[in-house]
Amino acid sequence: MSRQLRGHHLMCALGFRGHGYSPAFAANMADILAALDRAPETPVQVVDVPDGICAAFPADQPGHCLEADVVERDRRVIARVGLNVGDVLTWRELRRRLGAAFSPADLDGLCTTCRWLPLGFCREGLAALQSTSAVDAGKREMPGASAAGGPLSAAGAPDATGAATPRGAPR
Ligand code: SF4
Repeated sequence: MSRQLRGHHLMCALGFRGHGYSPAFAANMADILAALDRAPETPVQVVDVPDGICAAFPADQPGHCLEADVVERDRRVIARVGLNVGDVLTWRELRRRLGAAFSPADLDGLCTTCRWLPLGFCREGLAALQSTSAVDAGKREMPGASAAGGPLSAAGAPDATGAATPRGAPR
């Protein structure tokens, strides 16, 4: 099954420790991330609009999913990993690129308005990913990386798996 994830949620996934805006939001996010981790070859389309994680944002809380700074955060993450909005890569390759493109200190500038930033989980998650990647790189090739490391499909061009199918909706 393919997925859509907004750019900054790629980063949030690294620091997710079960916290969320509500128990239902956290459970939904945990389900999505667990599914991706079980199947790291899953094609993921990177977007700058609300995704399946946003879909569980509680309706009784002030929303932020469409705010300009959040959309800008999506676009900054997507550009930093060398992609365009709408590109599709495997979950494994996206994580590899995140680890290569960001340092934990970068989150202070990227996530200034996020309530989870002070907890430090995301910096820790990124550092852990980089530590794991360094160990893996010494042992073997990343089996999920394409030969060129490029997108499975480009923005606006659905890939062969139908990964461009939109999912999720604004709350
Ligand atoms: S600090 Fe907030 S926006 Fe930044 S990666 Fe962590 S949860 Fe996501």
